[in-house]
Amino acid sequence: MESLQGLREELEAIRASGLWKSERFLASPQGARVLVRGADGTEREALNLCANNYLGLADSPRLVAAAHAALDRYGLGMASVRFICGSSALHERLEAALADYLGGESALLYAACFDANGGLFEPLFGAEDAIVSDSLNHASIIDGIRLSKAKRFRYPNRDLDACESCLREARAGGARRVVVATDGVFSMDGYFAPLAEIRALADRYDAWVMVDDCHATGFVGPAGAGTPARAGVKVELLTGTLGKALGGSVGGYTVASEPVVALLRQRSRPYLFSNALPPALTAAALEAIVLVREADGLRERLFANARLWRGMLESAGFSLLAGEHPIVPVMLGDAEASQNLAQALWEEGIFVSPFGYPVVPKGAARIRTQMSAALAEDDLTFAAEAFRRCGVALGLV
Ligand SMILES: *Cc1c(COP(=O)(O)O)cnc(C)c1O
Repeated sequence: MESLQGLREELEAIRASGLWKSERFLASPQGARVLVRGADGTEREALNLCANNYLGLADSPRLVAAAHAALDRYGLGMASVRFICGSSALHERLEAALADYLGGESALLYAACFDANGGLFEPLFGAEDAIVSDSLNHASIIDGIRLSKAKRFRYPNRDLDACESCLREARAGGARRVVVATDGVFSMDGYFAPLAEIRALADRYDAWVMVDDCHATGFVGPAGAGTPARAGVKVELLTGTLGKALGGSVGGYTVASEPVVALLRQRSRPYLFSNALPPALTAAALEAIVLVREADGLRERLFANARLWRGMLESAGFSLLAGEHPIVPVMLGDAEASQNLAQALWEEGIFVSPFGYPVVPKGAARIRTQMSAALAEDDLTFAAEAFRRCGVALGLV
């Protein structure tokens, strides 16, 4: 069939350009050590340095027990969207808990943060409005903005002068509602958005601030309340995920003022036209918030691991992007070198993920390592030694 031939050619082009993404299969719970199926089909244990399991809660017995209890009591799922017959007290409680934890009036659950971002802009920002967006924002923010009719402005990553120019232009164009949209943490670099400065700029131009805090909620800032808490600011719109530090399952949410959340409940399409979160995951997320609010010990271990790991890699001769976030990118420049190093590390029992163009800029290929509170100091010593050995063998350090 002609149309399939076209698709085959496209697939071939993806392979030929070195952009093919293949999946690795885990045969164990997510954790510090995982069983991974290799390309040859055999399973082997590896130290996992590439999960978003920041607080190590993906296999938490407390969260698993909460999920079990809700599964037994309420069954598998709601078989409905929220507004027909899919809402439960668990959803109501989780929305209240998220709003309270993250310092907002109200919250709304989605099947994923991708949906929270995808359904955020179109109901709130129309043709008379303007959205000012960081160039490195997550794909779901970009898609969400595309779905709105608002005028769009884009500034280079964390460039405050350019952000201000966009705000000035939006206001000069007579925009009604203006919002600056940013990731709280940029996931490829581990850089924080300059939220205090963005807040001040937004105030000067009477604009809202929207933050996607997927790589921060649960572990950044006081009580892990995220990048706004870390910067000591409030934002009008906050989105996040249940799929990273808050237990690693699925689900997303928006936290905002009551009228904003009320309008999203009426108009946000991924909320209206997609199934309610299953009881087991909703109950696990509720328990995760209780656990995480008191998890200063886990947060300390996570950031201590990040400091230790950065020091170890630097002593081994690798160059990193500076920072304090548990995302620790090992900069190699060359995409093939990144892939070779990841493969060599895999042979040594270290599971890492190489990133090249177009996920990161050309010449900025890297291995993005991620720390977790589940990793012990011995794990890091073992991993750093393997990085050093493989780096030397490949002539990279
Ligand atoms: C992971 C991530 C998402 C997507 O979250 P899901 O809940 O998995 O859909 C959105 N934005 C950012 C910044 C992320 O890192």
